[in-house]
Amino acid sequence: MDVTASALSPRRPTRQISVGAVKVGGDAPISVQSMTTTKTGNVEGTLQQIYALAGAGADIVRCTCNDQAAAEGLAQIVPRSPVPIVADIHFHVEMALAALEAGVQGLRLNPGNLRKPEEIKLVASEARDRGVPIRIGVNAGSLHPAIYEKFGGATPEALVESARLELAYFEEVGFSDVKISVKASSVATMIAAYRLASETFDHPLHLGVTEAGPLPGGLLKGTAGIATLLAEGIGDTLRYSLTADPVEEANAGRQLLEVLGLRERKGLDLIACPSCGRAEVDVIKIANEAQIALSALDVPIQVAVMGCVVNGPGEARHADLGIAAGKKRGHLFIQGQIIRVVPEDEMVEALVEEAKKIAVEGVEARLAARDRSAEAEAAADRALLLDDRGGDANHDGERIEKIRRRIAD
Ligand code: SF4
Repeated sequence: MDVTASALSPRRPTRQISVGAVKVGGDAPISVQSMTTTKTGNVEGTLQQIYALAGAGADIVRCTCNDQAAAEGLAQIVPRSPVPIVADIHFHVEMALAALEAGVQGLRLNPGNLRKPEEIKLVASEARDRGVPIRIGVNAGSLHPAIYEKFGGATPEALVESARLELAYFEEVGFSDVKISVKASSVATMIAAYRLASETFDHPLHLGVTEAGPLPGGLLKGTAGIATLLAEGIGDTLRYSLTADPVEEANAGRQLLEVLGLRERKGLDLIACPSCGRAEVDVIKIANEAQIALSALDVPIQVAVMGCVVNGPGEARHADLGIAAGKKRGHLFIQGQIIRVVPEDEMVEALVEEAKKIAVEGVEARLAARDRSAEAEAAADRALLLDDRGGDANHDGERIEKIRRRIAD
């Protein structure tokens, strides 16, 4: 039984908004976001990146709207985009109004940057009239100076207060089609801020650790913050902020939801043993080769690469398909049962071939079609290896003998 999703705390109730066709909050699936790194005025380049992001699992994509060329670009990008587009507004109210004119499905306002109440209310009124939601995107690094001073820094309370004040302006003009983010680059601050935001607001929350940095540290920071909150039932949409190709952000967001059981797996889940002194092959090399070859198939199966035939098939018996190495041969297995023995240099090829067959025929049919002599061959390999390498490294048989002799005495 898959206990992953049910092991998480129940999702905290939030109201639901629509970013174009994507629902955010309430019982809507948790969505993944990312942001383009191209100049938005470069329409073809930006669209190419948006398609790549959508292919990697992004449900919503944000583009900066920082000048007239960007706003005009958005007018051409929005109708051709496969996913809703959110315009990121920093300092200029006219850019927010221009993005709305371009037809974007959402806006992101940073309360620390766009500060004049009359401008904030003007944008909120326009968004209200057009039915376009706004994210109040508070960022610890660009907090309004007055709030920073009042709270003595970018504390969780200060971040939530910034969102509350912005929301109050919106509500003055009868607009509450809002999601909120309270991002910080400190994971601890971000977690505390979102916990507080979740108690304070019933609007959907957009999770993220801002400026998390390059891989792999950025991934760790993003995951530490976002996964902790998701496990507590907090969060309706998320973005990894990585100093990397944004496709990595979309991949990370999708994969995080998949491993938490919050999104159905779309592609390969490759597991591999960490390798140890018993390994018969270079597990890292084979796992990397298998990852590349199998990812191209886009088959939603779990595949195991194990370093030895003695423990491998048993340890990975939950995998749909796997290979374990031993005595210059690979034991190909499905759910722990050996189906074929192949030469070592054909291990990756055999995995790919079998994965393709599983995708068409299913696991049961492939188990039924197994080579009936494979199990005996595999058992012989295991026996040989145990003889060579010693199956009783802890000398437990010897110890048991001694215990028995003592008791008999
Ligand atoms: S499967 Fe074999 S090689 Fe891999 S970690 Fe386990 S014992 Fe070591």
